[in-house]
Amino acid sequence: MASNRKVMVLPGDGIGVEVMAANLKVIDWLAKHKSLAFDISEDKVGGAAYDAYGTPLRDETLADAVASDAVLFGAVGGPQYDDLDFSLKPERGLLALRKEMDLFANLRPAIVFDALVGASTLKPEIVSGLNIMILRELCGGSYFAEPRGIDALADGTRKGYDTNAYSTGEIQRIGRVAFDLARKRNGSVTSVEKSNVMHSGILWREEMTKLHQAEGTDITLSHMYADNCAMQLVRYPKQFDVIVTDNLFGDLLSDCAAMLTGSLGMLPSASLGAPDPETGLPKAMYEPVHGSAPDIAGQDLANPLAQFLSFAMMLRYSFGQAEEADLVEAAVADALASGKRTGDIMAPDCEQIGTAGMTQAVLDAMDRRAR
Ligand code: NAD
Repeated sequence: MASNRKVMVLPGDGIGVEVMAANLKVIDWLAKHKSLAFDISEDKVGGAAYDAYGTPLRDETLADAVASDAVLFGAVGGPQYDDLDFSLKPERGLLALRKEMDLFANLRPAIVFDALVGASTLKPEIVSGLNIMILRELCGGSYFAEPRGIDALADGTRKGYDTNAYSTGEIQRIGRVAFDLARKRNGSVTSVEKSNVMHSGILWREEMTKLHQAEGTDITLSHMYADNCAMQLVRYPKQFDVIVTDNLFGDLLSDCAAMLTGSLGMLPSASLGAPDPETGLPKAMYEPVHGSAPDIAGQDLANPLAQFLSFAMMLRYSFGQAEEADLVEAAVADALASGKRTGDIMAPDCEQIGTAGMTQAVLDAMDRRAR
């Protein structure tokens, strides 16, 4: 079916290949039952690209990705690539895509499905019904800002250092994404920094406040120190809607929030760039948080739900297809509620199935909901 929605599919390695094949079935379902078609191109990335082309990301692949409306990514990596030179490692393909597409906004939702409340290490009453969004700045701060390095000192010892620098522009662009996200959710943003001890934090808080006054008065903005936020995430996570924070704090807080949900096989993510001046759509890549899971690859054991939920984010944030995104998310919840589980989320009295079985359970649920 012809479409002006150009999607590049990069399955990658290991279970990335399996969960992407499952995702394509969901995409086929939408084309057949909802007349929602995508113009799909597919290529190799990571170890698969190294095996075929001698590089984890070809220039042609990168150019295609940049020219696409959205990239749907599986996972990369595997022990057979461990001894490769750093520049040839599968993960370099992923990092180069993020960097070249200037994907500065990393969205990591932490959603607890009713059927999986027991999978969290926290008490059910703390996590049941949880649905929060961690928004992490991805291109600046401690992981990129200069100066950084390890210097030899005159006394024979060494000094290692990084810089946590943020400019007005960098803070404003992530702030805008936070406000936009909150508008599509519950209208509340918590901006997280350490303005009590860091200059970059003082600027972050001032710029967020200014942006809020200028462009976001329809949103409720509050501020929180990062250490308090870590504590609040495990004490009372349901107080949050959107949390926006810098690269370093976001790295830590998003993993902390992920654990509230209990399982790696359930976690989607999106990385967004600046909106296109013509279409208003951001450059974007959608991928499950998990890796290529070499220990279970090729055995029909992978949980495909993180991949499906990443695809639902693509529908919502790249194509404005909220109804179809809701349908996929509801079908995932239905499949879980029916007691079907892949091994990673298996629970007593549930039926253990594989990747193919879980994919079919979600497709069946979509069938039922479409009737
Ligand atoms: P991993 O996420 O691949 O696996 C960790 C554990 O979780 C494994 O036991 C695995 O079987 C299980 N698991 C992960 N996803 C699952 C799913 N969907 N269903 C069922 N079980 C699942 O992390 P790892 O083992 O540390 O790394 C394996 C490889 O993946 C490495 O080469 C690593 O560099 C790479 N990696 C890639 C990405 C990415 O592509 N974004 C992310 C993390 C790790």
